[in-house]
Amino acid sequence: MPAEKGVKIDLSSEYPCPCRRAGRLNPIALTEAFGCDRCQHIFIVQDNYQQLQQISGASPYKRGWRWNGRRWLPLHSRWGELFLPMMLGITIVLIAVWLPLILQASVEGTVLFWVLVAVLLALLPALIVWLAYWRS
Ligand SMILES: [Zn+2]
Repeated sequence: MPAEKGVKIDLSSEYPCPCRRAGRLNPIALTEAFGCDRCQHIFIVQDNYQQLQQISGASPYKRGWRWNGRRWLPLHSRWGELFLPMMLGITIVLIAVWLPLILQASVEGTVLFWVLVAVLLALLPALIVWLAYWRS
């Protein structure tokens, strides 16, 4: 995959917002930051005007983008886009495989049931993080 060279971000220009709500980024006076008119997020310019980073209290992810002259390219989207849905997929498969076993089993099944509950509880934060990530 060839690395696309970033184009310097011009603070006096208007850019589309990298959020999924078709917002516009407006420069915030006297700062190196942009504000979106739709999602209300603040984005700061970093890395020698090469990089845009979202300031967000809700998302645990540091979301960043590079401007390629036409659109924003996410800096580290693959992790968030692939990992968490994969976790959810694995959870669904586990439930699908384990549930019939648990329903059939008797005493040993009780242990399995609690193991499953523990796994689900462990995955719950991942689900919450994933939802928070996609809503922003
Ligand atoms: Zn926005």
